[in-house]
Amino acid sequence: MEQITNYMIEKLVEILNIPSPSGDTEKGIAVCKKEFERLGLKTKITPKGALKAILPGKKKKSKIIAAHIDTLGGMVKEITPNGYLKLTQIGGYSWNSVDGEYCTVSTMDGKMIRGTILFERSSVHNYGDSPKTEKRTEDNMIVRLDELVQNLEDVKNLGINVGDFIYFDPRVEVTSSGFIKSRHLDNKAGVAIILGVCKYIMENKIVPEYTLEFFISNYEEVGHGASGIATSLTEEILAIDMASPGIGQTSKENKVTICAKDSSGPYDLNMKKCLINLCCEKKIDYVIDIYKYYGSDASALLRGGAQIKHALIGPGVDASHSYERTHIDGMLNTAKLVIEYCK
Ligand SMILES: [Zn+2]
Repeated sequence: MEQITNYMIEKLVEILNIPSPSGDTEKGIAVCKKEFERLGLKTKITPKGALKAILPGKKKKSKIIAAHIDTLGGMVKEITPNGYLKLTQIGGYSWNSVDGEYCTVSTMDGKMIRGTILFERSSVHNYGDSPKTEKRTEDNMIVRLDELVQNLEDVKNLGINVGDFIYFDPRVEVTSSGFIKSRHLDNKAGVAIILGVCKYIMENKIVPEYTLEFFISNYEEVGHGASGIATSLTEEILAIDMASPGIGQTSKENKVTICAKDSSGPYDLNMKKCLINLCCEKKIDYVIDIYKYYGSDASALLRGGAQIKHALIGPGVDASHSYERTHIDGMLNTAKLVIEYCK
């Protein structure tokens, strides 16, 4: 497994630094496509912009292994008369988690304009208690552009328009103790794990029992990610997505979680048993957990009508949809389980 440890971290850092909010994932998908091809897999970009990488097995029947590359983000909702931007959210998060974050506005003609997301009455010198006590909402959060703009016209002259994407700075940091801190580890950690698994399978010339379809989805955060990707040959989907440690949860950053149930209901019992058995047999450090407010690419696929088995596993990502953190051991435990599942 040592051969994929550094590789997964390297790929993770690379893709974390490529902005990819739901709806603007082309660059991230292109980098993954190139990497799958370099590893020797055939790829295909779907009309929706998602990516499939195929690894033929002994059987034609197939298993999908999915992770989403799309992340949270923002979009310009309005340009205010005094030259600020109001935002609308892409994906679900608390406004507090982006208060003070540096960001980039991506214009339709390809300009990248820097700014900061702020509460509109941030200065305690001007507004007293208001910055300390007021609830952050989409009505009072703004982007302060790092450009000399005074009014709506000035902002329009920069090329900024309603509907432009806003990227949050990921602030990637890898610590010597094995932690990876960044925004958007949900679910770029999952994408890096899939790449690590492919590298391991290809380099060790493993021929899987089933044909494997690695799927990098691009609209999971807004609900319809992997929906509709099953074919008549698909038997199962294994979604790789973050586990969520917290009060009353078993998930840990250094372990792989097998999700028994989330807001979409229970995952497939036979797949759960099979994954637990693999962990016990191969001494993979795992826990089982349940999430109240969670859905995955696997649930999206089933909700779309697929009559297949589904499961969800992943490394613990602390403070999800905020300043996230995971540990390389959690990614390795997840990769080990996926490799065993693929064989
Ligand atoms: Zn996710």
